[in-house]
Parts: sequence; C-alpha cells; structure tokens
Amino acid sequence: MQENRKLEIRKKANDFRGKCKKGKYGIIDLFQDCKRQEWKLLRYPLGENADLGFTVKKDDDIIIFTNSCSRLSREIFTLAHEIGHVILHLKKDNSFIDNNMTINGKNTDENEQEANYFAACLLMPHEDVSGFIELEMSNPQGKDLSAMDIAGIMSEFKVSFDMALNRLENLSIIDINQKLRLNSEKIEKSVDRLLRSVGGNARLNVYSNEIDIPYEYIDYAIYNYNHNAIPEETLKKVLDCFQLDIEDVRDRIAIRKSDDYTDLDDLIGGLDD
Ligand SMILES: [Zn+2]
Repeated sequence: MQENRKLEIRKKANDFRGKCKKGKYGIIDLFQDCKRQEWKLLRYPLGENADLGFTVKKDDDIIIFTNSCSRLSREIFTLAHEIGHVILHLKKDNSFIDNNMTINGKNTDENEQEANYFAACLLMPHEDVSGFIELEMSNPQGKDLSAMDIAGIMSEFKVSFDMALNRLENLSIIDINQKLRLNSEKIEKSVDRLLRSVGGNARLNVYSNEIDIPYEYIDYAIYNYNHNAIPEETLKKVLDCFQLDIEDVRDRIAIRKSDDYTDLDDLIGGLDD
C-alpha cells in the first residue's frame, strides 16, 4: 500500500473515531457507534465455520453483518473491517463478504488490505497506543512488555491478543523477538487468565453469540438470498430467529427475473424510517 493511501486511510479512520464514544484511550462500544450512523447492523451466531461478516449497500441503506460465533474481540475487529469497506469502498449495490482469508492480514487483495489497515488504525491508533503504554504503563519505549501488559492493552482497546501483538509490531513498538516471546507467554498462561489477572474484560475472549436482528432484516436476508449473496443456510438461520422457515416466505424467495423485483424493492424502500 502506498504511503499517501495509508495516510488517507488513517485520516478516515481518525474521522470515524471522532464519532465514537471513547474511554481514556480505546473505543468503548463500536457496535453502538455503528448503530448511531444509521447503518443497519446485524449480529448473529452463524457458526464457527461460517463467514465472519459482510457489508452491502442497497439503495441508500448500508447493512453490516457480523458473525457473533467468534470471540468478541474478533467480532469487533470484523466490525471495524466492515466499517472500513463502508467508508473506503462501498458503492451502490455492491457488497463485501469476509471470512478468515480476507481478515487474516495475509490476503493480497487491495480492498481487503485497506479494510484491515483501516480497522487497525480505528481500534489502535498510534498516538493512543503510545500514550497508553507511556502514561499508564510508565514504559515509553514499550520495552519488555509482558503478556499481562498485552492483556491490559487488549482490555483498553477491545482487541484480541494477536491483534494487539501485530499492531504493536507494525508500529515498531515491539520487534519480532518480543512478539515471539509474548506469544509463547500467551500460550503458557492463557488469555483468559491473563485478562483476569489484570482485571480486564474477560468477555473479549469468549463468543458473545449475540443475536441482534431487527425484524425488518428478514427482508434484507431474502433480498441477499435472491441476489445470491448468501446461501440458503444463512437465510434459514435468520428466519429461525423469528421462528419462521423457508416455507413461510416461499412466495418471496428465488425470484430472479429482474422485472419481478418491483414488489420487493417497494417493500425494502418502505423500511427507511
Ligand atoms: Zn473485507
């Protein structure tokens, strides 16, 4: 990624951060901040092997989905990544679907790299991370950070242990040797215990299994299904939240001729309040 593009992304992440409620350093609840954008946010435990998240723009509506069947810290990163797509890439009627490949940081697709960079800058901006380490840990150089310190960083910035290490390395606060040492300390002590030992937010390390789907999303699920954006399995799971099955909505699905869209579009258009 070019330096001027990186700067542009940092600016956009910083602008969005300005709209978020922050604690002393980190964002408190990115899900709430996302809802205040009048974007439509869905959370659902789709299963461990399912996609991690997606975002889609339909007319003037922006829909973000995150799979809550992943550790909360991971789900927050997915959300930050999807916000990156919304702000950097999303145009009318396109979508991004994310899984372990697109969010693992090793993906070579430019949009995915940019969304990951946006997420890192949004959750752990350089100046706040440095400030936290310097002022709260009395450790201006980040020298000899312990795994407990990393757990403290996790808690403040609502990120996973691995994300914290990657970001600290990218910011040159730790080097590869420190990263390896901290990683083995993590394996030895377990993230749960580390979080407890610093009085940290233990919820970050467990699956939230949160279900947050306003009823109107049935229409979006059907829309996405009809546009081949989600598999039948996903549609079934959404319907299941409302104790419905495919048969209950049979007359509205799998209509793939464009001239048949009018009714559905009217329906979705009527949900704009
Ligand atoms: Zn993505």
